[in-house]
Amino acid sequence: MPGPKEKLADESEFDQAARIANKVLDYAHRYRSPPKPRAYEVWFTYLTGEDPALSARIESEIVKSNEVDLDTIDEIYADHFLQRRLSTGMTRIGDELDAGLRDTLSVVREGLGSSKRFLTSLQMARDKIATTPRDQDTKRTVMDLLELGREHANQTEVVSDELNKARAQVLALQRELHRLRDSAYLDHLTQISNRRHMDEVLAREIALAEVNGDPLSFALADLDLFKRLNDDHGHAIGDAVLKHFAALLRKNLKGQDTPARYGGEEFAVIFPKTALYGAARATDNIRKLFHETDFVLSRDRSSIGRLSVSFGVTQFLPGETMSHLMGRTDDLLYQAKRQGRNRVETDM
Ligand code: GH3
Ligand code: MG
Ligand code: MG
Repeated sequence: MPGPKEKLADESEFDQAARIANKVLDYAHRYRSPPKPRAYEVWFTYLTGEDPALSARIESEIVKSNEVDLDTIDEIYADHFLQRRLSTGMTRIGDELDAGLRDTLSVVREGLGSSKRFLTSLQMARDKIATTPRDQDTKRTVMDLLELGREHANQTEVVSDELNKARAQVLALQRELHRLRDSAYLDHLTQISNRRHMDEVLAREIALAEVNGDPLSFALADLDLFKRLNDDHGHAIGDAVLKHFAALLRKNLKGQDTPARYGGEEFAVIFPKTALYGAARATDNIRKLFHETDFVLSRDRSSIGRLSVSFGVTQFLPGETMSHLMGRTDDLLYQAKRQGRNRVETDM
């Protein structure tokens, strides 16, 4: 029988869920999301606030267009629920399989150890009998036992070998699963983090900065006049430049920093434990290196001329939301564009 206290707690939990459910309908309607279960799941998660990366994504959609349409819902759903469920599920299966095999293997090894000890005792008994002549029956019994023991030990060894092979296969499978899970976080073209990963890392770093009081900086980069580059030289050249820029970020940032392709020709960098000044210096260095690169076409070694990139850089303000931080950074990037491009704009 539940006590009265428990009942009260249940009721308030129910009330809370009902209130959120009402809000889900309200928000879905307000931001023109279609009445689909996945849309409700996205809004429900947003309203409970349990996934900061999802909340930031929704808020940036609202700021951008004041609606969250079916395409956006599908994108968010795929990014935040499907992929994660799939990859964590697969990784869990791999881990469990390995743990199971490891347990079995240790039982078999124990068995193998004890049957080897048994064999050694029998061998000692046999040697003793061989030196002290006794009746033939005892001798034969010991020999038979010895044979049986040997057979048992051999069989156990075979089982142990088979299990070892199976475990090696599971480990290879596990490695593949981990690789797959990681690839869900990588941008295909540039092989640096994608937006999904950046959202997650930024949410985590914001939470850490709030707790530790460490500075945290954030940068957005947008390659300048990239449309013209594509128009003049083709999409493949554009793609090669994107790869080069990503490599430049990877090579010239510290290990703790996370560069990511944010979308199209836009990139982001998360700088944990870094104040604005440090982040501004690091991004300005990359801006210079990119501008100094002389891109030549492999077909005739002709140069495509200098390219440039603009940055907006900010430092996280305690208490601000992720989407507010991103909004401030985006505004600075826009200022860098308006002030002539090929520059780093900060609110220092
Ligand atoms: P701005 O200096 O103002 O940023 O000018 P922009 O031309 O870079 O800006 P805009 O946003 O108008 O154009 C971005 C272009 O980037 C449009 C598109 O052709 C190109 N782009 C986006 N994603 C990719 C991609 O994956 N590969 C290639 N090659 N080009 C891309
Ligand atoms: Mg752009
Ligand atoms: Mg651009």
